[in-house]
Amino acid sequence: MVRPIIAGNWKMHKTVAEAIAFVAQLRSAFPTAPDREVIVAPPFTALGAAAEAVRGSFIRLSAQNLHEAEKGAYTGEISGAMLREAGCTHVIVGHSERRTLFGEGNDRINRKLLAALGVGLRPIFCVGESLGEREAGRREEVVAGQLKEGLNNLTADDIGSLIIAYEPVWAIGTGKTATPDQAEEVHRSIREWIARLYGPKRAADLAILYGGSVTPKNIAELMAQPDIDGALVGGASLEVDSFVRIIGY
Ligand code: PEP
Repeated sequence: MVRPIIAGNWKMHKTVAEAIAFVAQLRSAFPTAPDREVIVAPPFTALGAAAEAVRGSFIRLSAQNLHEAEKGAYTGEISGAMLREAGCTHVIVGHSERRTLFGEGNDRINRKLLAALGVGLRPIFCVGESLGEREAGRREEVVAGQLKEGLNNLTADDIGSLIIAYEPVWAIGTGKTATPDQAEEVHRSIREWIARLYGPKRAADLAILYGGSVTPKNIAELMAQPDIDGALVGGASLEVDSFVRIIGY
């Protein structure tokens, strides 16, 4: 049984002051730590301040992206070591917006995963098919390809540090959630795939999050599925009230 994880991806939202205020309100909403792992992923500029704000609390800090190189002439990029120094424990890798808007393919995502793991960051590795791919009956093939290429050269120990997020692209920011059955079917196949490659223990211990228009209204039925271990939340993580209700589903 995996401890539930609720992660909020703020994308390009929130100033430093807004991030500090959000964390303060989130902390005071839970005088005792909830029985979930709670993660927030602010933009790069707010990471340092958010790290101070979450110190000593139940909230963990994630970045939304990293560069795969350790250092070098990569104007505008941030390395995993820099994220660790800023206070991150997690990093989102392979989000569909990185794949579609910034041209990140499976090979690059694989290098980012290895870079994150190399500095001790826990990657939240996103996979998921587009609407066209689903309608063309290619969902399984696409997600399997993302897993196969994305996880190339990862060891069983690496899998122990990994979190996977299944995020059907057609459900992200659209208000269209996958039904619990649709999500469960994919989560189960991801776990089976991991079991075949890394053994049943790694598969059973792996947290597989669902992402795509998660709200306080639909979280409970999603979490009732046996292979859904948590949620990666975009829009509904931006307001403290709705994020708190998702955490407390
Ligand atoms: C996301 O971008 O990871 C996401 C799941 O967004 P939303 O919850 O807004 O669909």
